[in-house]
Amino acid sequence: MIQRDYLIIGAGIGGASACEAIRKHDKRGSVTLVGAEAYTPYKRWLLSKSFLREKTILPKKYSEVDERWYAAHKIDARFNTAVTQLNIDRRVAVLGNGESMEFNKACLAMGSRPGRPPVAGVGLGNVIYLRTMRDGLALREMAEHEKTVMVVGGGLLACEVAASLRQMKMKVSVMHRHATLLNRYLDPDTAAWVTGYFAKNGVTLLLGESLNGFEGKTVLRNIQTKSGNRVPAGLAVVACGAEPSLDLVRNTPLAGPHGSPVNDYLETEEKGIYAIGDLAFYPDRLMGGMRRQTHWENSREQGLVAGANMTGKKRIRYEQLPYFWTEMFDLRLDFVGDFTVQPTRVDLTGTHAKKKFTARYYQGDRLRGILVSSGTEKQIDSAKNELRRVLGK
Ligand SMILES: Cc1cc2nc3c(=O)[nH]c(=O)nc-3n(C[C@H](O)[C@H](O)[C@H](O)COP(=O)(O)OP(=O)(O)OC[C@H]3O[C@@H](n4cnc5c(N)ncnc54)[C@H](O)[C@@H]3O)c2cc1C
Repeated sequence: MIQRDYLIIGAGIGGASACEAIRKHDKRGSVTLVGAEAYTPYKRWLLSKSFLREKTILPKKYSEVDERWYAAHKIDARFNTAVTQLNIDRRVAVLGNGESMEFNKACLAMGSRPGRPPVAGVGLGNVIYLRTMRDGLALREMAEHEKTVMVVGGGLLACEVAASLRQMKMKVSVMHRHATLLNRYLDPDTAAWVTGYFAKNGVTLLLGESLNGFEGKTVLRNIQTKSGNRVPAGLAVVACGAEPSLDLVRNTPLAGPHGSPVNDYLETEEKGIYAIGDLAFYPDRLMGGMRRQTHWENSREQGLVAGANMTGKKRIRYEQLPYFWTEMFDLRLDFVGDFTVQPTRVDLTGTHAKKKFTARYYQGDRLRGILVSSGTEKQIDSAKNELRRVLGK
C-alpha cells in the first residue's frame, strides 16, 4: 500500500494552498494531492466572468498553479482522480483507480457542489449548473447556439452569469423568488438599485416567481413557474446555492449540517484531519459564531493555515475577516465583514447613481460589514482595517 505523510483531498484553491504551506514548512514529507477534476487548480471565480465572455479555448490561462510546480516540489499530484472512500480510523483512502493510500494527516478540501432544486427536469440537457471548468466550457458552447437563456436564482452567481450572458448579447431572463436581486447580501435600497441596473441593461426580471420544474424530453423546452406560467427556454442556468461536498465523510462526525466542523486551527475532531474552504464550518474569532464561507479568499487563506498546522511546525489560528467580491456588468462590489443578517442601519457615503459608494452596515450601533462599490485595493484594505479596529482585533 502507498504511504504518505500528507493527503490533500480536492485540488481547488484550498487544496492548492494547503500544498503550498506544507512545502513551505516541511520540505521532505511525502504529499499527495488528489483532485477529481482534470485540471490543475484554476481560478474558479473567473468561470462566471471573463471565462464565459472570452472565446479563448483554454483553461491554461486560468490556472492558479503551474503544473510543473508540483513536480518541482515533489508533490504527487493526481488530477482526474477522486478519493472514493475514506477510512478515518485506519487512515486509509481509496482512489477511483482502486489504489489504496495510507496517510498520516489529511486535509479535506472537497469544496462545494451546486444545489439542485427539488423539481422535475433538473437533469435535462441544456440545464446547466456552473461549478467546474467543464460546466463553463459546456455553457460557453451552448451560448453560441442559443439566443435566449433563463437564469434561475438571484444570488451572486446568478447575477454574474446573467450579466456575462447579457454582455454576450443573449436574451437573458432571471427568475428569482424575492422582489430584488442579491437580497441576501444587500440592504433593500442597494438591492433595489442593483435590480434596476440589471433591468436597465436589458435583463428581463421575473421577480417573486419560483421554479416549479423544467419540461422537455431530453433537452429543455419550457420552464414552469409556481404561479402557473410556462416560459419557453432552450437554455437554463441554475444558481441556487452551493452545498458542501461531504459524501466522502457522510455519516461521520466530520459531516455536519453546515459543513465539516473544525476548531480554531481548522482541525476536525479527528486529530490530524483538517477541513478547509467551502467545506469548513469554523469558529469566526473576529466576528463571533460559527461560519461557513463559500468564497475564494477564505479558501485560500484557510489552506495556508491548515497546511502550516498540519506540519506540526506551526500552530496558527484562523483569524481572517469574512471577505468576498463580485463583478457584474461594470459594477464591482467588495464585501468586508458579516453580511448574513440584514443591517438595522446603513450609513451611505457616495451615491448609487455614480456607482461609487461605501455602505456601512450596523446591527444596532455595532458595525458588522462594509460594502465598497468601485473601490480601489487601498480602500478595501482600509475597510478591513476599520472593521478590525472597531472589533478591537
Ligand atoms: C462560477 C463561480 C464564480 C465564483 N466567483 C467568486 C467571486 O467572484 N468571489 C469569491 O470570493 N468567490 C467566488 N466563487 C467561490 C469560490 O470560487 C469558491 O469559494 C472556491 O473555489 C472554493 O475553493 P475550495 O478549494 O474550497 O473548493 P472548490 O473550488 O470547490 O474545489 C474543490 C475541489 O475538490 C474536488 N473534489 C470534490 N470531491 C472530491 C473527491 N472525493 N476526491 C477528489 N477531489 C474531489 C472538486 O472536484 C473540486 O475540484 C465563485 C464560484 C463559482 C463556481
